[in-house]
Amino acid sequence: MELEPTDIRAAAIAAIQAADSVDAIEEIRIKYLGRKGSLTLLLRSLGNIPAEQRAAAGKRANEFKNEIESALEQKKYELTSTAARDLLRAQWIDVTLDCATATQREDLGRLHPISQIQYEIEDIFASMGFEILDGPEVETDYYNFEALNMPRHHPARDMQDTFWTEDGNLLRTHTSAIQIRGMEKVIPPFRIVGPGRVFRYESTDASHENTFYQVEGMMVDRDINVAHLIFVMKQLLKEIFQREAVVRLRPGYFPFVEPGFELDIQCLICNGAGCSVCRQSGWVELLPCGLVHPNVLRMGGIDPKEWSGFAFGLGLNRLVMMKYGINDIRHFLSGDIRFLRQF
Ligand SMILES: [Zn+2]
Repeated sequence: MELEPTDIRAAAIAAIQAADSVDAIEEIRIKYLGRKGSLTLLLRSLGNIPAEQRAAAGKRANEFKNEIESALEQKKYELTSTAARDLLRAQWIDVTLDCATATQREDLGRLHPISQIQYEIEDIFASMGFEILDGPEVETDYYNFEALNMPRHHPARDMQDTFWTEDGNLLRTHTSAIQIRGMEKVIPPFRIVGPGRVFRYESTDASHENTFYQVEGMMVDRDINVAHLIFVMKQLLKEIFQREAVVRLRPGYFPFVEPGFELDIQCLICNGAGCSVCRQSGWVELLPCGLVHPNVLRMGGIDPKEWSGFAFGLGLNRLVMMKYGINDIRHFLSGDIRFLRQF
């Protein structure tokens, strides 16, 4: 028995109203309006009915078809918008909401003041054309002493109390070892800095630590002299302290430089008048420096007749202490959160 168009329409509309998913809607569409759908077959069979009834029957069937189509569209729209609304309700995120309270932000942590100044110094040197190099903390005797003009039994080795490992290596006592490694890698002219952690086997007090930080610097070119060294140092200090720094050089002995100097900076806390930080002298010893000893250049494979250079070893702890008026070097490794929160 063939279904009456009105029955098809009624069944389709009922099914559409009961549908609970977009997939169900599609199934209904196929069932009634698909290639073998019941309404499609009905429309196709119109040719078999008497001509005088055909026009009216065709018009009615087409009306039902349009009605079913729009019911399908309507239901599909309802179902998708409900799904979208449910999704929004379930996964709603307020992007304007502050993700952390002030206290939580405190606990996120921050860079250690030494790291802060290290990155700052790296930026300053990079802007002056220096390349930043790295080196190992456990060094060989060769890179830490021998290639720096301190052969075995050289008395200057005693100036740097050393942690030795059982296999004859050591914890680097200065970042100067990076100079030698640098010279092996680059060809002159060059400018390099090497920041890092260094170690000394010594008892600690307010101005001594067994672990501290330095930045090694070296510039090699033709006819480098002390004026170049002073210029670069003053430029660096000016950037760090955001004002003109007064410096002085005193003769100092370091086997890897000739001549060698101690560079002092006029105390920024008392402006040279004398205070507890500068021990009433008005000056603070900041770094050893000098013109690279010809033997060191030779060890690095550089001809000292053709090239000359300056080198320095900047103590980062002391610089941070000067910048913030910190009176005890042991704060840096204390892990004391009250200290660290101030930076
Ligand atoms: Zn002072």
